[in-house]
Amino acid sequence: MPEAVVVGGGIGGLTAAIALRKIGWAVTVFEQAPELREVGAGLSLAANAMRALDAVGIGDRVRAHAAASQVTGNLRLKSGKYLRRFREGRDVALAAFHRAELHGALRAELPEECIETGRHISEIPEADLVVAADGVHSTFRESVVPDAPRPARRYVAWRGVTEPGVKVDGSFTFGPGGYFMIHPLPGERACWAYGTRTGTLDDVRDWHAPIPELLDASPSVLRNEILDLDPLPTYVRDNVALLGDAAHAVTPDLGQGACQAIEDAVTLAAALRTRSVRAALAVYDRERLPRTHLVTRMARRKGQVGVSSSRLVFGLVAASTRLVPDTAVRRSTARLWDWTPPRLS
Ligand SMILES: Cc1cc2nc3c(=O)[nH]c(=O)nc-3n(C[C@H](O)[C@H](O)[C@H](O)COP(=O)(O)OP(=O)(O)OC[C@H]3O[C@@H](n4cnc5c(N)ncnc54)[C@H](O)[C@@H]3O)c2cc1C
Repeated sequence: MPEAVVVGGGIGGLTAAIALRKIGWAVTVFEQAPELREVGAGLSLAANAMRALDAVGIGDRVRAHAAASQVTGNLRLKSGKYLRRFREGRDVALAAFHRAELHGALRAELPEECIETGRHISEIPEADLVVAADGVHSTFRESVVPDAPRPARRYVAWRGVTEPGVKVDGSFTFGPGGYFMIHPLPGERACWAYGTRTGTLDDVRDWHAPIPELLDASPSVLRNEILDLDPLPTYVRDNVALLGDAAHAVTPDLGQGACQAIEDAVTLAAALRTRSVRAALAVYDRERLPRTHLVTRMARRKGQVGVSSSRLVFGLVAASTRLVPDTAVRRSTARLWDWTPPRLS
């Protein structure tokens, strides 16, 4: 049986391990943290990622941990005024998760003995295939692309998850100076994120309800630098494949970072089903580079506008959001969401 080592037990690494096992590989995941876990924040997966999880055979078990978020259709100003309202049939909901619960659902698909925690890997391990899913600060990126760019700081995001007892619809509120995103979570909880280049969380204290209430209902708040990576020329070298943020860290403005990691995992496993490792990695590279480069560029552009403190930019965004025809909205999201995963069986 061919053997793969996956470095990194994040969403990308775990999905890769599940997909590789599905095509009959033996897999060991090495994770540097003493235990496998994710932070106390939320994230959403769009249809492209959910279809990829279906292809691996775990879509429904993962969906059981999600709430439907109308964030894609409820676009607001800080006064609370709606620029657009979610409409069934026109807008498509996202699947919103508590990160730890999504991560736990993936973890549950792997046998205990597959995962070795407390293992920081600094040299390329011996295996038929090495999947470097070691995140935005990847140790292995430079083994694949020696002059790889460094991740660049784009802005800052504060995030939190409320205690139970909060009922919200998903929504996205435009600044100026930043954006505030809300997703409902199962169990009458909500998660939120405030992205800004120069502001602080105090700025949103006077934004529309329920924003101040969500801050008060969140026992802890995380502050993260938002980084992204200039597109790499390749994700593979010899028998090593970069996957997820190690390959293409993107800003969260399209909610596609983890989605793309999941797409990577399924594409890699499908390519390996019928090919040698070298041939499969060439296919993986060919398929993943253009798609992930597009996502990086789209996310960066959206982020620049979303956290802009220019009143002019803000006015243009607000006006165009109100006026943009449904067909144009559909076209731009279709490029991301209408992805069909390759078959794994
Ligand atoms: C504020 C914010 C909001 C986001 N929202 C969304 C969203 O709504 N939807 C979405 O799809 N994406 C979102 N993302 C992006 C998403 O979180 C990432 O793209 C995704 O988690 C990347 O997963 P990964 O497995 O590639 O990397 P990581 O999750 O970073 O996992 C890498 C793992 O590798 C381990 N590791 C690192 N180095 C080593 C080593 N040398 N040896 C062993 N182990 C190692 C780390 O400990 C870690 O566990 C968001 C990101 C941020 C910052």
